[in-house]
Amino acid sequence: MSTPARLQYLRIKAEHPDEILLFRMGDFYETFDDDAEVVARDLEIALTSREFGKGERVPLAGIPYHALEGYLGRLIRAGHRVALCEQTSDPATSRGLVDREVVRIVTPGTVVEESILDPAANSYLAAVCPADGQVGLAYADITTGEFVTGQVPAGDLADELARLSPAEVLVPEGAGIDAAGRPLVELAPAAFAPEAAADRLRRHFSVLTLEAFGCEGMELATGSAGAIVHYLDRSHRDGLARLGGLSTRSAGSRMLLDDRTVRNLELFEGGRSARADASLAWVLDDTRTAMGARLLRRWIGAPLLDLGELGTRQDVVEWFHSSALRRLRAAELLSGVSDIERLIVRVRGGSASPRDLLALADSLRAGPQVRELLRSGDDAGPAAALGSGVGAHEEVIGLIGAAVADDPSASVGDGRVIRRGYSAELDAIRDGARGARDYIAGLEASERDRTGIRSLKVGYNRVFGYYIEVSKANADRVPAEYVRRQTLVNAERYVTPEMKEYESRVLEAQDRIAEVEAALFAGVCAEVARSADAVLATGRALARIDALRSLGEVAAARAYVRPEVDGGTGLEIEAGRHPVVERMLPAGQFVPNDATLSAEQEQLVVLTGPNMAGKSTFIRQVALIVLMAQIGSFVPARSARVGLVDRIFTRVGLQDDLTVGQSTFMVEMVETAAILNHAGPRSLIVLDEIGRGTSTYDGLAIARATAEYIHNHPDLGCRTLFATHYHELTRLAEQLPRVRNYNVSVAEDRGEVVFLRRIVPGGADRSYGVHVARLAGLPAGVIARAWDVLSELEGAESPNGPPGRAESPHRQLSLLAPTPRVVEELAALDPSSMTPLEAIAKLYELRDRARERP
Ligand code: ADP
Ligand code: MG
Repeated sequence: MSTPARLQYLRIKAEHPDEILLFRMGDFYETFDDDAEVVARDLEIALTSREFGKGERVPLAGIPYHALEGYLGRLIRAGHRVALCEQTSDPATSRGLVDREVVRIVTPGTVVEESILDPAANSYLAAVCPADGQVGLAYADITTGEFVTGQVPAGDLADELARLSPAEVLVPEGAGIDAAGRPLVELAPAAFAPEAAADRLRRHFSVLTLEAFGCEGMELATGSAGAIVHYLDRSHRDGLARLGGLSTRSAGSRMLLDDRTVRNLELFEGGRSARADASLAWVLDDTRTAMGARLLRRWIGAPLLDLGELGTRQDVVEWFHSSALRRLRAAELLSGVSDIERLIVRVRGGSASPRDLLALADSLRAGPQVRELLRSGDDAGPAAALGSGVGAHEEVIGLIGAAVADDPSASVGDGRVIRRGYSAELDAIRDGARGARDYIAGLEASERDRTGIRSLKVGYNRVFGYYIEVSKANADRVPAEYVRRQTLVNAERYVTPEMKEYESRVLEAQDRIAEVEAALFAGVCAEVARSADAVLATGRALARIDALRSLGEVAAARAYVRPEVDGGTGLEIEAGRHPVVERMLPAGQFVPNDATLSAEQEQLVVLTGPNMAGKSTFIRQVALIVLMAQIGSFVPARSARVGLVDRIFTRVGLQDDLTVGQSTFMVEMVETAAILNHAGPRSLIVLDEIGRGTSTYDGLAIARATAEYIHNHPDLGCRTLFATHYHELTRLAEQLPRVRNYNVSVAEDRGEVVFLRRIVPGGADRSYGVHVARLAGLPAGVIARAWDVLSELEGAESPNGPPGRAESPHRQLSLLAPTPRVVEELAALDPSSMTPLEAIAKLYELRDRARERP
C-alpha cells in the first residue's frame, strides 16, 4: 500500500517527466526513484531509501532546504532541468497531507540565483521561430528585464546565436534547428503561432497593439517572443513578471560577426597566445560595474553601422580621454554603484532582500554626482546628454533611507530590518516587547539574588521555552512557586507562572513583529517597484557611462587615437598595433605597421613571410582595429581612417600537423564557401593560410581560386587580407589589378634569421624554414643535414618550395600554367551555381587531370 504522500509524489512527478523533481518535505527537498539515483551521483550525496507504507521502499536522496542554491547550481551545470515542488499549505495547521505544488522549473535560461550567474555576462533565454529563408529570434534576460525580438536571414542564425551565447534555446518541435551544442528545448509549434503569440504578448504587457514594440505584423519576431512568454508562464512566473517591455531590433543596424570570427579574433577568450584570458574584452574592460562590463561585451559582439550613433560614443570617449581627473572621479563614483539592473528586477519580482534595497539606494545616490560630472567642461555636450539619462530618484532613495535600518538582518522578520521611526505600529510592538525581554534578560541575576542560589541558571530550549535550572544539591532551596518541568542527572529545571507570562509576551511580540515587518517591507518594495522603469533607465545610462569611461581610460593608458569612420570603402591605418599582443609584450617591443586597403585600388593584400614572422598578428590587428573603431573605441595606431565594414569574416587554415584528413579539410572548404556566399562589397575578409589542410597543390589551387573569386566577382570586390606561405600567390599581383603583395621582412645575421616584424611591399622571396627550425631548438645535426637537403632540392622540383623557386619553371607547371583543356573547363565553370560539395569534387577532378600531364 502506498501512502498518500507517495501517491501525491507520483502524481506530480508524472507531470514532470523531463525534470528532476525536488519534493519539499519539511526541512528537506527529497528526490525519489530514478531522480534520487541521478541526484546522488551528480551531487555526490548519500543515496538511501525510504519506506512508504508497508513493504514499499524506494531510493531517496535529500538536500537540506537551506543549501538548495548551491546544489541547484550544480544540477543545472550538469545539464539537468529541475522542478521545485514546495509545500503550499502550512504543515502546522493542515490536517493530513500537506498541499504541494511545483512553483518553478529551473532551467539554464531561467536561473536567477546570483551564485549561479556570471555577473559580467548576460544570461539569455532565446527562442527561434523558423520559416523559409527567415527566422524570428527573440531573447530575454530575466535577471535584467531585457527582452528583445527581431527577424534575421536564416543563414545568419548561427552567428546571431554565437553572439548572444544563450543559456537555453526554445525551438518548435521537429524544426531541426541546430543550436551548436546549446541546451535546446522543443516546444509544441502552437507556442510559436503568430496570432496566439501576439495575443499572449498583448495580454502580458496589457497593451492593445504591439506597435509600440515595433514588431506589429512581424510574424516570426512575434512568434518567437510569444514562445518566450509561454515558456516562462509555465516555468517561472516571477521571471515573466520581470520582463518590463519588448524591443524589436531592426536588421542591419549592427555588424555581423560569425562564430569563427569571434573566436579567431579572440574577442572574448584568448587561446592563441599564452594567457587564456588575453582577449580584446580583457584589454578594453576597465569598467567598474557589472552592468558596464556586460554592456561593453555586448558592444564588442555587435559593432555599429550607424555613423551618428558611433560619433556620439566617440565624443564621450574623447571627453573622458581628454582628462585624467574626469576619469578618476567617474571611476570613484561608479565603484559605488551596484548592479542596478539586477537589483531593481529583484525588487519588482518580490525577491529583493533588505540589503538589496540599501545597495540600490546607495547606487542611485551616486547618480546626481555622475550627472553633474558629465556636465563639466566646455566640451561637455555629448557627455552631458548622456548624463541627463541618469535620474535623481530622490523619492526612492528617501523612502529606502527612511524605511530600512542601517545594518539590517539578511532576511525580513526578526525586527531588525525596518528603521525605528518609520512605523509607529512596529515601534510600539517593539517597545512593548522590550519590557518583557529585559525581564527575561535580567531574570538570572534577580533570581540568584532572591533565592541565594549562586549556581542558578536561566536557559531556553525548543520544547518548553525558558526555564530555570538549579543543581540537585540546591533543589531544596527553590521557592514554592517554582514548578518542576524536567529532571536531569545533576539538576532540576523549573518554570514560574510569571516567567511564562513574560515569555508568551515576547513570543507574541515576535510573531507580530515578523508579520508587521514583512508587510512593511513588502510595501516599501512595491513602492520602489513603481519607479522600476525609471530606475532601470538610470541603470542603463550608468552602464553606458561606465563602458565609455572604460574605453576612454584604456585609450589614454595605451596611447590609442580616435579613428575617423566614414561611409567609404577605404581603410588606412598608420602605425597600427595589435591591442592584445601589444599588451602581452614588454612596453615598446611591439613593432607598429601601416595598412592600406580600398575597394578601388588595393583591394586584396597578399601577405607572405616565413613562419613566426608576424603574418597572423598583422591581419588580425587590422580586423581588430576596424572592429574597435566601430564600437566607438579609440584604436592602437598613430592614425586610422575606416570605411564602415558591415561584416568581418575570418578563416584560419587548419594547422598541418595534427589530425588533418580529408574531412577536416572539407570543413575548411565549406567554411570558405560560406564566406564567398555571404560576403558583400562592404565586408572585410581575413584569410590566414587557408588551403593549408591538404597537399601543397590542392591548397595552392584553392587559395588562388578563392583570391581570384573575391577579386573578380561583381558582388564581392571587398577588402581582403590574405596571409599565406604559398609564395606562388605573389604572382597574382601581376595578373589582377587590385592585388598587392606585402611581406614581413626578416634579416639574416650570420646565418641566423632576425624577425623585424615590419610589413614591406613586395613578396617574400626566400624560405626561412630551416632558420626557424634552428630557432626552435632542433639539434645542430638535423639543421646541418637540412641545409644539405635544401641545396640538393634547389634544382629539383619540390612542392614545398626551397629557396629560389621562382626561377624554376617546372614547378609552376600544374597550376600557374595549367594545360589548355583544364583551363577551358575551368573558364566554363559557374562556381556560384555549384554547391560546395560539387565544387570540391570538380576541383579534385581537375587536379587529377592536370596531374596526368607530364
Ligand atoms: P606568423 O603568422 O607569421 O607565423 P605570428 O603572427 O603568429 O606569425 O607571430 C608570431 C609571434 O611574433 C607572435 O606571437 C608575437 O609574439 C610576435 N609578433 C608578431 N607581430 C609582432 C610585432 N608587430 N611586433 C612584435 N612582435 C610581434
Ligand atoms: Mg600564422
